[in-house]
Amino acid sequence: MPNKDLNTFAAQNSMLFDAKRNLVYGRLRGYDMTVTSSSKNEALATMNVESANADSAEMLSQFLYLLPKSHPCVAFAHYQNRTVTVGMRGSGAAGVSAFSAALGDVTNFLLQHGFASCCRYCGAKTGLAAYSINGKCDTMCESCFQSVSGGSAAVAQEPKKSNFGLGVVGALIGAALGCVVWVLIYQFGYIAGIAGAAMLIFAAKGYELLGGRIDVRGVILCSILSIVMLFVAVNVTMFVEVYKALKEYYYVTLSDIDFVALFRTAWADGELRRAMLADLGVGYLLAALVGVPYAMQLFKKAKYQAEAVRLPAYQIHE
Ligand SMILES: [Zn+2]
Repeated sequence: MPNKDLNTFAAQNSMLFDAKRNLVYGRLRGYDMTVTSSSKNEALATMNVESANADSAEMLSQFLYLLPKSHPCVAFAHYQNRTVTVGMRGSGAAGVSAFSAALGDVTNFLLQHGFASCCRYCGAKTGLAAYSINGKCDTMCESCFQSVSGGSAAVAQEPKKSNFGLGVVGALIGAALGCVVWVLIYQFGYIAGIAGAAMLIFAAKGYELLGGRIDVRGVILCSILSIVMLFVAVNVTMFVEVYKALKEYYYVTLSDIDFVALFRTAWADGELRRAMLADLGVGYLLAALVGVPYAMQLFKKAKYQAEAVRLPAYQIHE
């Protein structure tokens, strides 16, 4: 769901909308709830609830299992570890109202079967608040927040710390992949500039994959790496072009070429230099157009992935 839809959903249900964290949180008919969205067409609602009646948990699981049948917008729903999770697909006004209707049915069921909001970790029913820990928003009690965000045993459940060394390896692999994509696109006669943006995205994905999660130094590393690798890609493309031209007229193999000398000659040659600078210019421009907003997004993500805060309180309404 785009932020616009999250905002509408929040307004219609008297909940709070946090644009910085792509988050809606608050109380829906007595139940503390958070709604997040990771893509344009998806949203995820979670509620931590518990019932004194032991049979109710099984009935709730059954009810949630069947929810997609009565509400086609619901992709999946389940109840595990005190948490009701409802994933939905859709966007726009229709998506928002379908989502609200499905969640209305869920809260109806919870009310009828004696469920109450509780802390995810200890099940406490009082002193609950919404917290954001490492980019994930959740309802819990103050003392569980302290132990989850502090240095206690519970911290092991939280996302792993980033490993910079492995992150560098991942980013290098990603950027090298971007370099290959650039050279390949060039061979098909297209402007390879867009691969400049791909380079940053690949590098960041590589960093995240091997390093555990993206952080601020990772974003900086990946940005520098894509700038350097773009320069490398332009030169590799030049080598390939020169080699293809030479092969046409002479019997040369790769080992016959002195790449250092070729690099010097090519950059000294007015015409070749202009062509390479033009490629580089287009590459950097397109990389900046796509890459800068992407890097900003990563920065935001890196920032909120490393926080542990209590979110502003919301008004209780029934
Ligand atoms: Zn607790």
